Amino acid sequence: MAEEKSGSAMVAGDQEAPPGVDLSKPSIARVYDAVLGGKDNYEVDRAVADAVRRDMPHISDVGWFNRAVLGRAVRYLTTEVGIDQFVDLGAGLPTLENTHQVAQRHNPGAHVVYVDNDPIVLAHGRALLEENERTAVITADLREPESVLSHPSLRRLVDLSRPVGVLLVGILHHLHDDEDPRGIVEAYMRAVPPGSHLLITCFSDTGPEARAVEETMLEFLGTGRFRTVAEIEAYFEGFEMLEPGVVPLPLWRPDAPVAEPLTIAQRLMVGGMARKS
Ligand code: SAM
Repeated sequence: MAEEKSGSAMVAGDQEAPPGVDLSKPSIARVYDAVLGGKDNYEVDRAVADAVRRDMPHISDVGWFNRAVLGRAVRYLTTEVGIDQFVDLGAGLPTLENTHQVAQRHNPGAHVVYVDNDPIVLAHGRALLEENERTAVITADLREPESVLSHPSLRRLVDLSRPVGVLLVGILHHLHDDEDPRGIVEAYMRAVPPGSHLLITCFSDTGPEARAVEETMLEFLGTGRFRTVAEIEAYFEGFEMLEPGVVPLPLWRPDAPVAEPLTIAQRLMVGGMARKS
């Protein structure tokens, strides 16, 4: 998969950082890129990916389970619900099957706004993610919903009087409890009308291996809070939870039957989708 992924490999390989990018510290976006086998990362990021891999040898599979759920969810929202505008919060570096590629394959008129606070996403991602006038990348902190939602690029592409797909994929475990992740989810969902949908995936506290990954992330990245399924379900309170609820990612509306029992890697992240009525 790594070979298929396009990006600014030269920049990362040459150790020349784009403006605003600090090469002395790992970044969440670049570590995730390394985990997925991408090329937009540096030595300092690969060291963290290796440390996580020591805790969880199949961590790359976990990343791809996450990407696969994003794809299935966006396909469902586009083809079966008719949602044609998405806000992808904590979007990450471009990889395979980015939100606009999935949405616009099924509806070429779909609009997608990517939000990430890491300037590398803009530096490496703009050419790939803003490949048409219906997509935009915003550098902003998702913990500040008001400034994200009032950003001119978002307002240009997203009509907040029509249903929106709000995507919080692989991100809420990077928010500490005192940053009020639930309040942040509520703020985004308050801003969108009935018919809007919320997709959340995140790491879950599934046992000692999960705790080891959480500790490694906290040590190297400064964030990592693996919540229980009950805590994750609470993000959806007040909305209509869609089947099959909050489940391990491979079990979220799989395209083909999944053998059980699941492996530790298959259970490491969970996700679910709800509808605002
Ligand atoms: N959503 C993508 C996925 O699941 O494949 C990428 C997930 S990646 C693990 C998390 C992303 O969230 C990173 O690109 C990171 O830079 C971004 N991020 C972390 N904290 C953020 C914040 N406060 N505001 C915006 N983006 C943030």
